[in-house]
Amino acid sequence: MLKVLTVAGTRPNFVKIAALQAEMRRRRGVLPVLVHSGQHFDREMSDRFLDDLSIPAPDFTLRPRASASPSEMAPALREVIGSARPDVVVVVGDVNSTLAGAQAAAGLGVPVAHVEAGLRSFDPTMPEERNRIATDSLSSLFFASEPSGVANLLAEGQPLDRIFLAGNVMIDTLTRFLEAARRSTVLSRLGLNGGHGTRRYVLATLHRPAAVDDPAVLRGLWSALERLAGELPVIFPAHPRTQSRLRECGLAGADGVNTKIRLTRPLPYLDFIRLESAAALVMTDSGGVQEETTAMGVPCLTLRNNTERPITVLEGTNQIAGLEPEHILAAARRMLAGGAKIGRIPRLWDGRSAQRIVSTLCRNYGSSRKPAAIPAGFPSPALPAIATC
Ligand code: UDP
Repeated sequence: MLKVLTVAGTRPNFVKIAALQAEMRRRRGVLPVLVHSGQHFDREMSDRFLDDLSIPAPDFTLRPRASASPSEMAPALREVIGSARPDVVVVVGDVNSTLAGAQAAAGLGVPVAHVEAGLRSFDPTMPEERNRIATDSLSSLFFASEPSGVANLLAEGQPLDRIFLAGNVMIDTLTRFLEAARRSTVLSRLGLNGGHGTRRYVLATLHRPAAVDDPAVLRGLWSALERLAGELPVIFPAHPRTQSRLRECGLAGADGVNTKIRLTRPLPYLDFIRLESAAALVMTDSGGVQEETTAMGVPCLTLRNNTERPITVLEGTNQIAGLEPEHILAAARRMLAGGAKIGRIPRLWDGRSAQRIVSTLCRNYGSSRKPAAIPAGFPSPALPAIATC
C-alpha cells in the first residue's frame, strides 16, 4: 500500500488537488491522506471549494494564524507528517503551504513530490517565486506542467530521471467540471445572458502583491478597468486581500458603490469557470486563470510584467500587458475589437495529468517499485529527451 500525504491550503491548491485526490481514491494500492494547512480557511476560499470539487473532508485540518510564513506553518505539518508516516508527501503550486509542506517532509526525511515544479517568473520580488525555488530545492520528484518547467529544473541541476512532464492538474479539474459549470446560473444572475449581453463582458481578477499592495499601482489598474467599464460590463470577483486594499485606497466600498466596475465577492468555482468560459476578455494577475483561459481558448490579458507560465503566451491565448494603465487599456481594446490571438491547447493538458502523476508515484514509491521511467522522446529540440509520465 502506497501512503501519499497531500498538503493543500489555498483556493488554487484545492483546484489542483481535486484531480489528484479523485485519482488516488480510484486506485487500489494507494492510501491518500489529505492535510488542510488552514492557510485559506473561510467558506468562500476553502470549504465551498472542497464541497464543489468533491474533495473528501481532510484527514487533518490545521489552523495557522492568518498570513503565517512557511517556517511558521511547518512545525504543525511536521507533527502531522510524523504521525501519519507517509511514503511520500505531495505538494502543489507555489503558496506558503506548498513550501511549508516541503520543509516539514524534508526535515523528517520523507520524499517530496512537487506538482507544478520548475515554473519560474525570474522575479525574486514575488513571494510565489521564492516559494517555487525553495520547494523545488527540497523535492525528490518533479512534475512539470509545461516544457519551461522541465528546462528550468535541468538548468538548476536537478536530475533528468526525477523530472516528468505530466501536464496540468488544474486543467484536469477544469475538464472534469466544465459540463457542470455550464449549468451555473451566474450569467443570468449578473444580467449577462442573452441579446447583446452574452460574451460582451470582461472578467477581471487581481490579488498579487505587485498589483494590489502599492496604492499607486492599484489606482492605475483600477482606473484602466473603470474606463473599460464605461464601454462594456467589467465583472470583478475580489479576493479578500484585494477587497481590503480597495477599501484602504477608498476605491470601492465592500458593496461595490463608488465604481462602475461590477464588484463581487470571490465566486464559487463553477460560477467563476462559467463566467471565464463565456467572457469576451479576461484580465488577470492569476496564474491559474492564465492557464484556464488558454485551455478554453478565451482571450486573456495578464496584468503583470512577466509570467512563470510562458506556454500560455507561446501557444495559448495569453498576452502580457504589464502594469501601465494606458498600455493595458489599449491592449484590451485591441483584443476586444478582434485582435486577440487564437491559441492552441498545450501538449498533455488533456485531463489525464493526475493519472500520469499517480502512476509515477506508484512506480517510484510503491511496494512493487520499479526504476524510474526511461526518458522517452520529447519533441522540443531545445530540451534533452525527458520522460513524460
Ligand atoms: N477562482 C474561483 N473564483 C474566483 C476567482 C478564481 O473559483 O472568484 C478559481 C480559478 O478558476 C482558478 C483558481 O481559482 O481555478 C485561481 O486561484 P487564484 O487566482 O487565487 O490563484 P493563482 O492561480 O494566482 O495562484
